[in-house]
Amino acid sequence: MAKIFDNIEVPIDQDLKEKIDYLAPHHGDFRILRQSVDARRRHSPHFVFSVEVAENPDEKLAVHEYPVEKVFNSDSSSLGDKPMIIGSGPAGLFAALRLVERGIPCHLFERGSDSAERIKGINRFWRYGELDPRNNVCYGEGGAGLYSDGKLITRIKSPEIPYVMHRLVKFGAPEEIQWLANPHVGSDRIRRVIPKMREFLLQNGCEIHFNTKIEKILFKNDQVSGVLTEQGKTFSGSHVVLATGHSAEDMIEHLHSAGVFMEGKSFAMGLRIEHPQKVVNEIQYRDFADHPKLGAANYKLAHHDKSSGIGVYSFCMCPGGYVLSSGTSADGLVCNGMSNFKRNSPYANAAIVVSIDHEKIFGKDLFGGMKLRQNLEQKALQSVKAAGGSKELPAQKLKDFFSGKLSPLNPGSSPSGAIPVRLDQLLPSMMTEKIREGLEVFHQQMKGFISDQAQVYGVESRTSCPVRITRDKDTLESLSHRGLYPCGEGAGYAGGITSAACDGIAVAEKITAQFASRSVRL
Ligand SMILES: Cc1cc2nc3c(=O)[nH]c(=O)nc-3n(C[C@H](O)[C@H](O)[C@H](O)COP(=O)(O)OP(=O)(O)OC[C@H]3O[C@@H](n4cnc5c(N)ncnc54)[C@H](O)[C@@H]3O)c2cc1C
Repeated sequence: MAKIFDNIEVPIDQDLKEKIDYLAPHHGDFRILRQSVDARRRHSPHFVFSVEVAENPDEKLAVHEYPVEKVFNSDSSSLGDKPMIIGSGPAGLFAALRLVERGIPCHLFERGSDSAERIKGINRFWRYGELDPRNNVCYGEGGAGLYSDGKLITRIKSPEIPYVMHRLVKFGAPEEIQWLANPHVGSDRIRRVIPKMREFLLQNGCEIHFNTKIEKILFKNDQVSGVLTEQGKTFSGSHVVLATGHSAEDMIEHLHSAGVFMEGKSFAMGLRIEHPQKVVNEIQYRDFADHPKLGAANYKLAHHDKSSGIGVYSFCMCPGGYVLSSGTSADGLVCNGMSNFKRNSPYANAAIVVSIDHEKIFGKDLFGGMKLRQNLEQKALQSVKAAGGSKELPAQKLKDFFSGKLSPLNPGSSPSGAIPVRLDQLLPSMMTEKIREGLEVFHQQMKGFISDQAQVYGVESRTSCPVRITRDKDTLESLSHRGLYPCGEGAGYAGGITSAACDGIAVAEKITAQFASRSVRL
């Protein structure tokens, strides 16, 4: 018999096993179901565990493999046209994975290259400022998730989350992501996971087409009939998974002109803040700041101004990370953050963003959010050029951001460097004001947050897509075009790696059900 013990508090210098020996003296196997760090001020930092314990000495716990029942033979010709997935980010990859596990062969189209080639393009951009429109921090195999912090935490409550973690571990992610409260893979480890996932997909009936941008989705009487590649080749099919991410504005424009229903979506924009990691550790862990078991500390901060209804919050915090130049177009600059598995860079960064209510700010202007983000990104690049730079990110010491000054920058983590720019003037005044207000509140919660050592980078403009491609709640198909499955972050249905992966799976399940209703099953 296995028993679950919840909320076991273990001081950081104590061993979990000692605690389990005490709670279940004759136990056999045990496994951690959940592990978190409690670093709140009223007590010393400690771990909190939930564990499953086999109560008898020789007992083993069942291993969970999250099997997926095969519905079709992979070589089944009775299925007709293969589903076509556009985009190999977490949504597209997990849609493909679930389809092939169900026995449905599919096509996966990716405008960028495989991850090894992609990385060369990214390094060239950071080093020389030459943007490769195919291979950058948002485009190429693995999607925006490849060069990320690899945080897998999500607010959604999908039953598929354990499956996602299990498959990532199967392809090489660290096992602990299955139980940590704040699971994270890190860019270096994700880059090893993706090629293994690709191999599995190729061996199980997924045809992958790299360097193949889909120019158009083809429709006949409001039903998907195929896709047209930029090379002019047509693939026929009646199911398209649109998993193109939050940066593929060209695809959104094409779908809009084809009459696909969409609506404006609220999102958030702002800056990215960077502190020495040591400062964050000292604020969060106090006397335990250098404790080797605690790792790099993180934070999550939010301030809601009731009178204006505007929120300011930290987002995508990357402990021990790097601030990245992560744009996709040659006329603009965007910043974001990443870290490696060990989170061992000497800096911590996080986006500090202001909520942008689509309805209130843009009214009926569907592309108002998109235009604002393009405008800010272009201003960011122009400001860097005006300051004598080319590839650098615009940055400002935090105290200068408050006082409206410009002084030499602190050293920082950005691989493309940084150049001093008046970010307080670059942002719309409402954003500057709200960010200042929010930061002052955060400083009350984390004394030392506003300090000489902190600096901000611009512009954090791609937190999510400012447009949603509307879909039916039951079939997950577009409300206007049958066979089109808007999916993942770009379509407005995910806000991170795990939620995008879960959305890809949800769409794959709907396509499986469609095939099952019209075909002979296994
Ligand atoms: C630097 C950075 C760090 C991040 N850190 C985290 C993190 O730590 N944790 C987290 O949860 N989230 C993080 N995110 C967000 C996360 O990466 C995204 O939420 C997630 O990748 C969205 O998945 P997706 O599959 O919907 O889209 P994407 O990952 O954006 O993938 C879309 C793919 O579609 C391809 N594509 C686009 N248009 C076409 C076309 N016309 N034809 C063919 N292919 C096309 C693109 O090349 C891309 O590969 C980060 C994002 C960035 C940029």
